[in-house]
Amino acid sequence: MIVREDACPTMNPDDSPPLPLPPMSLSPLLGVDLGGTKTEVIVLDAQGRTLYRARHATQSHDYPALLQGLMSAVDQARTELGLDASLPVGMGIPGCLDPRTLTVRGANTQCLNGQPLLADLRRLSACDWRIENDANCLVLSEATDGAAAGAGLVFGVILGTGCGGGWSWQGQVWTGPHGLAGEWGHNPLPWPSAEELQTPACWCGQVGCLETWLSGTGAARQLARETGLALSMPEWLSLVHQGHAVAQAAWARYVSRLARALAAVINQNDPEVIVLGGGVSLIDEIYTQVPQVWSQWGFHRPLATPLRKAQYGDASGVRGAAWLWRSATQSAARTTSNESSHE
Ligand SMILES: [Zn+2]
Repeated sequence: MIVREDACPTMNPDDSPPLPLPPMSLSPLLGVDLGGTKTEVIVLDAQGRTLYRARHATQSHDYPALLQGLMSAVDQARTELGLDASLPVGMGIPGCLDPRTLTVRGANTQCLNGQPLLADLRRLSACDWRIENDANCLVLSEATDGAAAGAGLVFGVILGTGCGGGWSWQGQVWTGPHGLAGEWGHNPLPWPSAEELQTPACWCGQVGCLETWLSGTGAARQLARETGLALSMPEWLSLVHQGHAVAQAAWARYVSRLARALAAVINQNDPEVIVLGGGVSLIDEIYTQVPQVWSQWGFHRPLATPLRKAQYGDASGVRGAAWLWRSATQSAARTTSNESSHE
């Protein structure tokens, strides 16, 4: 999903020449997190310190208005800090760019789907843009200077209204040739019980996806289906803490499901750190209870993978969007260095 000129020769369909990269380690980094209801803008200095942060409403039902809102939000940051109009922007979206057509797909802000967002942003501004899935921005943020700083292979998950995942390898987002890497939430629940074979439908067209069991929305639906308790997750946890036996049994099932879903990831890819973000990730019990039970599904035991809460919380997505250009300049510098060393 990351837009890389070197990996995807069709990625510049407007045929405009790529703009020069800014000098590494000198320029501020400008990031945008385009959410369904809010658009957040951040400017970081080269050390990751926040110079500017602002939130704006997203015009989520009208694509031209959404584009204008984005331009206005970015211009406001540039004006307040006196930034050059050519400073590039990194942006996280709740979907991804189709690597073949560079149009948006899979966005729950549905006016984006099918739109040539990257080409439109380049046409409307004097700078270049990089667009990445929001879960990939989270994992990039946490792998750069957050809860997984210094780790090589990192798996990041957003457990919120939906359920998104992303991978980073050596400080770079890893997306794969289809842009599919990290689409953990739309795989089935592993090692299901007989009861769990009665799987719910997912919006994506499959049945029994992890999102329907593990996202905040999906978990609350399962709770209602299994127990009749119509509660939000905080209300559910409150009952668990009060010793409510039915709520506690349902919570143990949630922990088991999350543990199985992550154990399957560890069996397949063995990440050095797993980082959780999103509203559900704020539940502290997850970080003790899930690792207590996940080893029973490990092919080798025990599973000792660190499971950590996103250090930057709800700012991690927008920070990762800003880091997209640092990641790009480092990648370009590495390529140049490798080419030089082979001469
Ligand atoms: Zn699904």
